[in-house]
Amino acid sequence: MNEHDSERIGGLLMADGMLPTDDVDQARVIVLNTCAIRENADNKLYGNLGHLKPVKDRHPELKIVVSGCLAQKDQGLIQRKAPWVDVVVGTHALPHLLDLLKESETDGPQMDVREYTETFPSALPAAREDAFRAWVSIAPGCDNACTFCIVPLVRGPQRSRSIGDILAEVQGLAARGVVEVTLLGQNVNTFGRDVTVPASSPTPLFSRLLREVGAIDGIRRVRFTSPHPHDFTPDVIEAMAETPTVCEHIHFPLQSGSDRVLKAMRRSYRRERYLGWLDRIRAAIPDIAVSTDIIVGFPGETEEDFARTLEVVERAAFDSAFMFQYSPRPGTRAASFDEQVPKVVVQDRFERLVELQERIGAARSAAQLGAEVEVLVEGGDKKGVSTQARTRTNRIVHLRDVLEPGTFAQARIVATATHHLTGELVRSPDAVTA
Ligand code: SF4
Repeated sequence: MNEHDSERIGGLLMADGMLPTDDVDQARVIVLNTCAIRENADNKLYGNLGHLKPVKDRHPELKIVVSGCLAQKDQGLIQRKAPWVDVVVGTHALPHLLDLLKESETDGPQMDVREYTETFPSALPAAREDAFRAWVSIAPGCDNACTFCIVPLVRGPQRSRSIGDILAEVQGLAARGVVEVTLLGQNVNTFGRDVTVPASSPTPLFSRLLREVGAIDGIRRVRFTSPHPHDFTPDVIEAMAETPTVCEHIHFPLQSGSDRVLKAMRRSYRRERYLGWLDRIRAAIPDIAVSTDIIVGFPGETEEDFARTLEVVERAAFDSAFMFQYSPRPGTRAASFDEQVPKVVVQDRFERLVELQERIGAARSAAQLGAEVEVLVEGGDKKGVSTQARTRTNRIVHLRDVLEPGTFAQARIVATATHHLTGELVRSPDAVTA
């Protein structure tokens, strides 16, 4: 979501006539778009602002902007600590960035961290990184309150876009040559829950959205992230299985395999329910690849809790996992919990988890040997002698052939490793290019 916001900021500035530059001395505007999920995000922000002070001294006309989650969280503190910052713009106020820049020229430093509801950030232009694939924000914000997570504090409650608005954006992308879209939301399953008409029962609209986006001409791959195991529903599995363009991959965050820890995290599902959903998903879509998020060393996690996580990881047989060592985020409930687990214990558990998941991931990868798969080319290596592509199951494939980004091709898998596959072209790429 944060990276997509950066695309929106780039799009806004470029629509105003600016161009990107790598040279800070050439820049008229520098935006630090912050993400508070990352560890030490505040230290990094204030460190970077320190580095920018001499640049601002050399070029007093330069505008320095801080946006994103830390802008929303730290607000006035940013300009108190770094008075050379011209604009602080919160996560909801992005559409006002150009006005704020203009006002800072005449009225000095500006800050806008108000919670607007009338202008949805996705109505803004975007300077997208790729010409052939795009993120599409469907519902920023989150109504949950996981005790380790800063998102509800900095992004506010969930705000779903209208289906018509999203479809129009995807149609526009397809008309410009985009072939793959990823629908983005903190909890995609509850998409639409906040905009259904008053007095009617709140209906999850996500399965309908998947089917309608998947039917748009020119869109050949639809991905989404992330569903919440608590709000998952059978109609989403049916929509995934019955919509040919929806890719055979799901990111399904586990966080912990211990019911006791899940409760302390305020994750309102339990391990058996999680595993039950996985069984149903795999029964409907047998070749689906599953990735997950796991936090190790949450406050109060015992060796027995951790053993439960290892058990679930064995049973779930994830294709890949983002594994994190818990570290407190200021402003979250878990940051004030007693029983923080000693660093050395967390490190030991983390290494055991990584070892297990690497073994499982390698075996899942090895099962791909000899398979013939459709790949979408993402780009070449730096030397220009090979190509990186991606399967529908979200696996990276290295090809020896040099192909244009945005090209679809058929490849046979001739070698496997834990985190990537090697393929050979078996059929000429089709005509779809970026
Ligand atoms: S579901 Fe939980 S982890 Fe995900 S964004 Fe919401 S509060 Fe954070």
